Amino acid sequence: MSEIDVPESHPRYQSLLTRHRIEAGVERGITSKQGLIAEGRGEAFDYLLGERTIASADEAARAAAALLLLAERPVLSVNGNVAALVPGEMIDLAAAVGADVEVNLFNRTDERMRAIVDHLREHGADDAGVPIKGLAADGRIPGLDHERATVDADGIGSADVVLVPLEDGDRAEALSAMGKTEIVIDLNPLSRSAQTAAVPIIDNILRAVPNITEHARELSAASDEELERIVREFDPERALATAEDAIRSGDLD
Ligand code: ATP
Repeated sequence: MSEIDVPESHPRYQSLLTRHRIEAGVERGITSKQGLIAEGRGEAFDYLLGERTIASADEAARAAAALLLLAERPVLSVNGNVAALVPGEMIDLAAAVGADVEVNLFNRTDERMRAIVDHLREHGADDAGVPIKGLAADGRIPGLDHERATVDADGIGSADVVLVPLEDGDRAEALSAMGKTEIVIDLNPLSRSAQTAAVPIIDNILRAVPNITEHARELSAASDEELERIVREFDPERALATAEDAIRSGDLD
C-alpha cells in the first residue's frame, strides 16, 4: 500500500494518486481551486496518451536535461500544482543540474507563497543546498499585469534557461519574449505554453520531472559539445506533432 491506500498495481493508480495530492494541496493552502480544474484538464490528455511517456517526450526530457546542464543560470519554476505533485522531485532535479527553484504563482498571495516555500523546505531543499526564491518579488516580466509579472530579479528575472511546468500561456509567451530559453512540461500539445517552448515535454509532470533528473545524471560527464548536439538535434515541432498524433489516434498500445 502507498500514500493513498490503493495498490500500485491498480489500473488507475497514478490518476488516483494525482487527485489525492492535488486535493491535499488545496487543503494545505498550497494549491488553488483553479488548480483542481487544471488537473482535470491534464488528466484527460494523459488518458488519451495511455498514461505513459511516449518516445518523443523522452527525447524532450533528454534535451531538457542537456539545456539545464549547459545553462549559466537555470531556474525551475514551481506553482501550486507542481508543489503538490512533485515537491521532492523538483528539489532532486534542481540539485542534479545546479538550478535554483522559484515559487511563481498565477494567483499570488503571501500566504500561499509562504506555504509553498515551507513545503519545499520540508521536502529537503535546505539539505540539498537548493535556494528557494520567489519571496523577494523585486523583478518584473514586461508585458504582463502587475501580479502575474512578479518574479525575483536574481531568480527568473536573470535566468537564461527556465523550466516552467504547467505554466499559463500568457506568461510562457512573455518569458520567451524576454529571451529566456523555456522548457515546458504540459500534457496538452496544443496549449500556448507548449507551443512557445524551446523544449516542450508532453508528459505528466509526475513522470517527466524524475525522467529529466535521470537523463541529467546520465549526462553529467558529457562534454558541452555533446550536450549542444543533443539540444540541436531536438525538434520541438516534431515533438508536438508526434504527441498530437498519439492523442488523436487514440492508439493506447
Ligand atoms: P494555455 O494558456 O497554455 O493554452 P491554459 O492556461 O488554458 O493553457 P490551464 O488549464 O490554465 O491551461 O493549465 C493547465 C495545463 O496544465 C493544461 O494544459 C493541462 O493539460 C496541463 N496539466 C495539468 N495537469 C498536468 C500534469 N499533471 N502534468 C502535465 N500537465 C498537466
